[in-house]
Amino acid sequence: MKATLVIKNIDNLITLKGENRARKGKEQGEIGLIKNGVVAVKDKEIIYVGEGELPESIEVDASTEVIDGKGKTVTPGLIDSHTHLVHGGSREHEFKLKLEGVDYLDILASGGGIHSTVEATREASFDDLYKRAEKSLKTMLSFGVTTVESKSGYGIGDFDTELRQIEVSEKLNEDYPSDIISTFMGAHAVPEEYEGRSDEFVDVLINEMMPKVIEKTNVKFNDVFCEEGVFTVDQSRKILLAGKEQGLIPKMHADEIVSLGGAELAAEVGCISAEHLMAASDQGIDDMAKSGTIAVLLPGTSFNLQKGTIAPARKMIEKNVPVAISTDYNPGSCPSENLQFMMTLGSLTLKMTPAEVITSVTINAAAALDVENEKGSLQKGKRADISIFDTPNLEYMIYHFGINHTDKVIKDGKVVWNKENNRG
Ligand SMILES: [Zn+2]
Repeated sequence: MKATLVIKNIDNLITLKGENRARKGKEQGEIGLIKNGVVAVKDKEIIYVGEGELPESIEVDASTEVIDGKGKTVTPGLIDSHTHLVHGGSREHEFKLKLEGVDYLDILASGGGIHSTVEATREASFDDLYKRAEKSLKTMLSFGVTTVESKSGYGIGDFDTELRQIEVSEKLNEDYPSDIISTFMGAHAVPEEYEGRSDEFVDVLINEMMPKVIEKTNVKFNDVFCEEGVFTVDQSRKILLAGKEQGLIPKMHADEIVSLGGAELAAEVGCISAEHLMAASDQGIDDMAKSGTIAVLLPGTSFNLQKGTIAPARKMIEKNVPVAISTDYNPGSCPSENLQFMMTLGSLTLKMTPAEVITSVTINAAAALDVENEKGSLQKGKRADISIFDTPNLEYMIYHFGINHTDKVIKDGKVVWNKENNRG
């Protein structure tokens, strides 16, 4: 078989070899490291991963693109499994208020916070939203991220805006090398028009918005912000089960601020993942372990909010809950596309080892997006999404923080980003 692309002499080849499923407990730190590794690709597929030289059965000729991996760390294309990629506006004007110690609820009361993003997103045209999201996507790709989850949720009751957000994600998925997987998050907040009548909004969401979104788009997941003052556990259950009945895989923003029983609910309804979880109870963590629900942790949000609340990642790993790490990229609580920085925070603040961290942005993130059979590890038969970092080992990548370590990004067998010319 003739290879179209080969990466050879790789100092640190991180394969994440193993079954196509989320890794938990001790497995979270087992990364299938090969020293002096080699990877061969034919078109969009990985055909060989091993040590030393390629076997004779794999042909290399003048048309094969050969990349030297000396001094490099090679991983599966990184996966950002929780973002609010498509939105209008930004909130730097609130930064000064935040530094002055003005409370978020006061900012919210004066029309700021999520309200200003909702307004900016409602006002933005398809092209405005597309251009802004495309810029972020390019930044993500430059950080080695080849697959991104993207949520709606800034329409807040305005159906056209929710739909436009998903349509922008789908168009970017078509146009851009990265894969974008869409999530319907109509239940991000209770619209002002429905204040005091949130049950009515839940019915509208389930009976009117959800079927239309499913009819008009290829949305895959259904997400709910279950939190005190937002959607209750009972309302969240209703929304998630209704989505499941209509073919959407449930996800949840759970136990971010208050321990409400969100983790327990995520396990009960069979959510593929529960996100944030800073206030998850011990019972909730036990339930998630039993149901196999993945904990998607967002340490950049904790860092940016500076409230000292950190998700109990060590406890989760000890109790066999698989952990993923994402940016939560959004204009309010985490305005950063830099997944490499989140990896550093994963070690420094969540106390995860670099090996556990790389698992959390590859195979476990793939499993949180239900794409673990095609992505998240470097193994024969998988998609050739590969990131090459200019670091002598994995630890260096996480320890030397705040900069971009990417050397090259390969998506579906082609180099789509290169440090030399800053593009594909
Ligand atoms: Zn979020």
